This record gives sequence, C-alpha cells and structure tokens, in this order.
Amino acid sequence: MTSHARRDGHPRQGDGRTPKRGSLLPIALVVGFVVLLAASQLVGAAFGWGLLAKRDKPAEQSEPVEQAAPQPEVSEEVAPPVEEPPAEPAPDTRAAEFAVDPARTDWNYEPGDAKVVYLTFDDGPSANTAAVLDILDQYGIKATFFVTGINPEYLDMIGECYRRGHTIGMHTYTHDYAQVYASLDAYWDDLNQISEVVRAQIGYVPCFIRFPGGSSNTISANYTSGIMSELSQQVQDAGYQYYDWDASCGDGAEHTADELVDATMEDTSYGYTSIVFLAHDGAEKQTTVEALPRIIEYFQQEGYSFAPLDRQTCVPHHGIGN
Ligand SMILES: [Zn+2]
Repeated sequence: MTSHARRDGHPRQGDGRTPKRGSLLPIALVVGFVVLLAASQLVGAAFGWGLLAKRDKPAEQSEPVEQAAPQPEVSEEVAPPVEEPPAEPAPDTRAAEFAVDPARTDWNYEPGDAKVVYLTFDDGPSANTAAVLDILDQYGIKATFFVTGINPEYLDMIGECYRRGHTIGMHTYTHDYAQVYASLDAYWDDLNQISEVVRAQIGYVPCFIRFPGGSSNTISANYTSGIMSELSQQVQDAGYQYYDWDASCGDGAEHTADELVDATMEDTSYGYTSIVFLAHDGAEKQTTVEALPRIIEYFQQEGYSFAPLDRQTCVPHHGIGN
C-alpha cells in the first residue's frame, strides 16, 4: 500500500508540469491537492499517525533486518573450519613413492640433525598387531611393519596397518631360516611369496625389506656359505633396500616389559639422531605390547619424534656376517 502511494505521488508532479502550457484549472486542482496532502501530513505528524510516519517505520524495520545480515557474515567467519573437514584428504602418494623400482638408487645413509625414531615391528601380523596399532594411534605415531606370512589368519592386518598410515615392508614368508637361506633361489622364492601377499593387501610391492636375522646374521652360514654377501647386493640391484636397525628393545628373546624398557634406554644411550628401532609384533610378544607405551614415552622425553620408514630414512646396514 505505502509503495503504491509513493509511486502515485511522482506521476502527479509530472502531470503538474505539463498543464502549465494549457489552462490553469488543472494546475489549480493539482496545487490544491498537494496542499491538502501536505496539510494532512502535518496534522498526522502532530498526532503521531501520519502517512510518512507509517512509511518510515517499515523502512526502519527493514533496515535492522538488513543489519541483521551481519549474522550470516559471522557464520561465514565460523564457516572456514567447517569447510576444512570436507577438504579432500591429501592424495596417497605412497604407491608411486614406495613401489620397488630398480631405477631408483638414491638411498640416504646420512642421519639428519632432527631426532627421529623409526619404530619397526617384525614377525607380524599376529594376534598382537591390533593392540600395537591401537597404542600407536593413541600416541599419534606412524611406524613400519616388516611382515610375514606365518599367521595366515591375520594377513588382512597388513592392509589395516597400511590404511592407518604405517609403512609396510617384507620380512619373510615362512621365517624358517633353513628354508629361506637354503639357497639364493630359495631366498628369492620366499621374498616373492611375501611380496605377493603384500601386493594383495596394499596394491603394490614396496621397496623396503628386512632379512630374517638381519644382514649380519650368521645362522644363514649353516645353510649357504656367503649367502648374505650375495643377497645384500642382489636385493639392491632389484630395487629393494634392506633395513637393519640402530637399536632394539631386545624382544627377540623373552623378556618382561620392564626389561624391554630398560634395554631400550640402554641401547639408545648413545643418542643417535636417526634411530631405526627393532621391536616385534609376533604372536609371542605380549610383553612388547605391554612395554610399548613406556618405550614411546621414553623417546618422547628424550626429544624424539616418530616417523614411518620412507626413501629418505637414513638406512642402517650392519656388517655382513656371512
Ligand atoms: Zn623376524
């Protein structure tokens, strides 16, 4: 209604100009009407109920509504954090980066200045792997699993470890020294077997391996003389890299959790910056699970951060013993 009244007013002013050329009667009528209109507004204003007052109020009300618009602006300021969750997760480049590739030989053998521990777990997956994963998650830590095929019912845990951000490497399919080190061919058969298990779980064969017993093992000499000298070169020629370890909690043998924590502190007392740390998540390693939180907290207190193995990790090689 009020907007109609406003529109009506302007044409009347226009009409008022045109008749100036003609008779004065229409002009007089228009002037009279305008005077009446002005008078009514004055009277209305005097009583507080004029047309203009009615018009202004809705206008004033509409302005606060527009001023209420800053609310959306406030919510826009809150919006950015809301926009972050839908942000796509960073693309997983691990397949391209970690896949075994004979053309890549840019391994790092120099520790950096940053204090980093690379927790590595051998001999799983087993019934203990889920507990290890949960502890790592609790501390927000990524680690590395050198896996075997000795507990077929837990092989799907390899994929689970990988999906939760950990690096997967091959340890051995059978972990039977007599079989694995029976010959060069026997070793490659075993490595290829566990490689295919890993490929089925994570979609590709990674470059990371750990020899059963480490590269310095002498038990292999019982089966094939000089086999570690040969294999250490052959695996690298094929694009793999083998990782021994800088320190261990000593859980290769049976120990209490307290003993494992003590052994960790003793074996890392030299304070290397880059520590590839050996532990086990095999079926018999409940005390490792028990000790793991304290081992992690010890490293944290010593100022270390944690990382999964990658191609930039300083590669630890023991001396070849056979
Ligand atoms: Zn092992």
